Amino acid sequence: MASATTVISQTEEQAKLSLHTTNVYNKKSPVGKTTEAVFDWDTFKFAPIRESQVSRAMTSRYFKDLNKYAESDIVIVGAGSAGLTCAYVLAKSRPDLKIAIIESNVAVGGGCFLGGQLFSAMVLRKPADRFIKEIGLDYEDEGDFIVIKHAALFITTICSKVLSLPNVKLFNATAVEDLITRKSATGSTRVAGVVTNWTLVSMHHDDQSCMDPNTINAKVVISCTGHDGPMGAFCVKRLATQGLLERHRMGCLNMNLAEDAIVKNTREVFPGLVCAGMELAECDSSNRMGPTFGAMIQSGVHAAEVALNIYEERAKQDKEEY
Ligand SMILES: Cc1cc2nc3c(=O)[nH]c(=O)nc-3n(C[C@H](O)[C@H](O)[C@H](O)COP(=O)(O)OP(=O)(O)OC[C@H]3O[C@@H](n4cnc5c(N)ncnc54)[C@H](O)[C@@H]3O)c2cc1C
Repeated sequence: MASATTVISQTEEQAKLSLHTTNVYNKKSPVGKTTEAVFDWDTFKFAPIRESQVSRAMTSRYFKDLNKYAESDIVIVGAGSAGLTCAYVLAKSRPDLKIAIIESNVAVGGGCFLGGQLFSAMVLRKPADRFIKEIGLDYEDEGDFIVIKHAALFITTICSKVLSLPNVKLFNATAVEDLITRKSATGSTRVAGVVTNWTLVSMHHDDQSCMDPNTINAKVVISCTGHDGPMGAFCVKRLATQGLLERHRMGCLNMNLAEDAIVKNTREVFPGLVCAGMELAECDSSNRMGPTFGAMIQSGVHAAEVALNIYEERAKQDKEEY
């Protein structure tokens, strides 16, 4: 029924559109040879729309997604390089799983829109080049490492690939401000989802009242919120305040030690919570690495594997410990 409605309205829209696009072809345009549609700008006109159509087009879809992902299989917190890589690997290998990504910023990418000191290029040590090949990006090979000409090229490419997968939803401008936990019959605690709010609301709990959050249940939560900052290292810090996890602050810079440590130690740091990327440095006191991103990508890949290894067991517990 829904798709029939869509088809009819598309046909109507096309009919309207053709009225507005009659005689739009401009033979004199200098870009005519390189683009398909070249318009006559004097007669150019968009198809008509009523403002409420725009509102409904957005809100109906958003609320449908809120409803669908209130019970997610996996929640990824943070859409930086580690979080988006993890989402890509997970969603591609398990199209049956519902994966929600929660990002506190409006824009995705975290610290990966630029390289160090806000320079453009992105350096990745091998073997992270394998993943870059998989997503089809060009790079310069410098022997032991590769260079992508702009970090933004990596992050926008991986983001477009993740968002085009049907089993992923990105909720951006939304912060995780707490975790859902469950206690088993034997008394052990496990993470069982996230507590969310609009980021702007999360930032104003001290000066506004009555701003209760929303929740998403999940069998596994993967935290990729980066190193410490206003919002960074969120899940590690939250569990530490409850005495559920020990927090050790990020160590000094050592690229060689840091990258291997982050990738190798990517793990389930607390039942139900997998930690990846620079957030791990706040857990393990591993060294900071500065602007080299191979470890973020490999940690994201490793986190996807860890999450799938524990998924069935956590899903079983989720049923039992309602
Ligand atoms: C200016 C600059 C400084 C850098 N400093 C360092 C450094 O000191 N040490 C180092 O090793 N590398 C540093 N880097 C390199 C690089 O940025 C990071 O190592 C890398 O970005 C970490 O990747 P990540 O995916 O783990 O986290 P990030 O890229 O930081 O991504 C984390 C994402 O999680 C989101 N997030 C955080 N909290 C929440 C929450 N509660 N709810 C929802 N979303 C949340 C953030 O908005 C962000 O998008 C720096 C880079 C730049 C450009």
